[in-house]
Amino acid sequence: MSTKINQKNLQQKKDLKEVKKVKAKQKEKNTVSIETKRHSLSHLLAYAVKELWPQAKLSIGPAIDVGFYYDIDFGERKISDADLKMIEKKMVYLIKQNLSFERSEQKIAEAISAEQKIGEIYKAELISDLAAGGETIVSYYTVGKFKDLCRGPHVANTNQIKAGSFKLNKLAGAYWRGDEKNKMLTRIYGLAFETREELNDYLKMIAEAEKRDHRKIGKEQNLFMIHEYAPGIPFFLPKGMIILQELLKFTRKYSYDDGYQEVRTPQLLNAELWKTSGHWEHYQEDMFILHQADGHDLGIKPMNCPAHMLVFKRDPHSYRDLPIRLAETTTLYRNEKSGELLGLVRVRSLSQDDTHIFVRPDQILSEIAILLEKVKKIYQIFNLQIDKIYLSTRPEKFMGEKKAWDQAEANLKTALENAKLNYEINAGDGAFYGPKIDINVKDAIGRQWQLATIQLDFQLPKRFDLHYIDQHGQKQTPIVIHRALLGSLERFMGVIIEHYAGAFPVWLSPVQVKVISVAEAHISAAQELSQELKTAGLRVELDAENETVGNKIRKAINEKVPYMLVIGDQEIASPILNVRDRGAQKTRKITRDKFIAEALKKIENHQ
Ligand SMILES: [Zn+2]
Ligand SMILES: [Zn+2]
Repeated sequence: MSTKINQKNLQQKKDLKEVKKVKAKQKEKNTVSIETKRHSLSHLLAYAVKELWPQAKLSIGPAIDVGFYYDIDFGERKISDADLKMIEKKMVYLIKQNLSFERSEQKIAEAISAEQKIGEIYKAELISDLAAGGETIVSYYTVGKFKDLCRGPHVANTNQIKAGSFKLNKLAGAYWRGDEKNKMLTRIYGLAFETREELNDYLKMIAEAEKRDHRKIGKEQNLFMIHEYAPGIPFFLPKGMIILQELLKFTRKYSYDDGYQEVRTPQLLNAELWKTSGHWEHYQEDMFILHQADGHDLGIKPMNCPAHMLVFKRDPHSYRDLPIRLAETTTLYRNEKSGELLGLVRVRSLSQDDTHIFVRPDQILSEIAILLEKVKKIYQIFNLQIDKIYLSTRPEKFMGEKKAWDQAEANLKTALENAKLNYEINAGDGAFYGPKIDINVKDAIGRQWQLATIQLDFQLPKRFDLHYIDQHGQKQTPIVIHRALLGSLERFMGVIIEHYAGAFPVWLSPVQVKVISVAEAHISAAQELSQELKTAGLRVELDAENETVGNKIRKAINEKVPYMLVIGDQEIASPILNVRDRGAQKTRKITRDKFIAEALKKIENHQ
């Protein structure tokens, strides 16, 4: 029982969404969706469990992202990984019996008492909820000898599930209804795909992801640490700080450029500001608030937007001044739930390559076009492939005029098309204050990460009563574009640690060159070389420890340093260096000057 899960609302919402998705898909084509197979497997999991332990009490068993789970009360019995194997074997046996799923109905009062009679207290509670919601009849599905409360849909017959396409993979603890006051049940997770091959590919990907886990690499390479005194707020160690600083430099060069103006706004701002921006009403739960004795509460900023509105408002603006691009990378704090924190990728403190661009309506198209070109260039440098782009459009409840929305959405589409970027439309999924573009990338092992967001905002400038004077001398409200292309730098660092598996390109490597002395007699020459390389602008570490060369080389290989230079008798006698490149089996010969020029060129080109 390693993980405790407490995500009641989230899970319920997800389950609902899942059901809707499944139904929509079923309608679309008359085939069995993978969600249906996953959900059917959860019934078979419960069936197998009841065959093995008739006393076990069942609760809920939905399909999830890559499989399914079932929450079960095993009483005193502790379920082990060996038990999982046994349950899985039983499931395979049941599936081979070519069992069909049969639907039946029962009056709700009868169903409750029937469940109570056989001790299925959780099911009885679930049905009581349905009764309280006004339902009078519940549906059951029977497969083989096992009957379970369910709305469906399922596979018609277990022969629709391919052999080897699923696997029980994980045990966790989960409170009944996600409430820690309730009993902790055992959650059994399964993975399920269409075929055995797909499952195997997924397992391979997971194993690779584990090797690349940024928390593991961060520890091995001394990049960052997380302490219990500051959950979700990483400490960047000297080597991690170098990467963070490089990302900041990168941000200033590529994410911003000379058209951007960097500002620094307060970390602590009066509650009145957050009331004006709407955060007090809609975002307070995610904020850290300081209650002052004089009654003037302060909020630690979770976003830069409201402060940037104040900066814009300070001066009068003409239509000729726009666009105005205010950029800021100071740290923001968000009170994420402790259960959701994860290394660098889900944190409570973050610094973004954040910018607010104040534009006239006729500038949206050109501004978005510039941003999309930046996005393409940035991800190309990191070798991250743009995977999916989503354009979220006007929701049912929206603010502003329909005409302005139509115009803005048309501009976003045109900009995406002109940039030759494929996108999907999430109709009605935009925020009430404006449409947005989300950009997902694929990393080296095919995982998707959502990084850039470009969000239009008709509302905030109105709330702050911002104006510019148009060519007719009339007051007009600007539109704001919120944009972050790398997103949070902390999260981006987590993503690229995994993307590169810790073998950073030269420009990002905390240590670019490792100089290794063979013996005592070579230390001063190694020191001299290190100094020369440092002066040239390279990050160098000297290993002059009293260890064998073999050990020192192995250490440098583990640290994934791009270049290794061993200094022994031969190297002292000659002006030529023996370079061992990361990943290479053999060394190569090169003059000092040429080596320095080569390394500096890589750094300059972000390689
Ligand atoms: Zn079902
Ligand atoms: Zn913003």
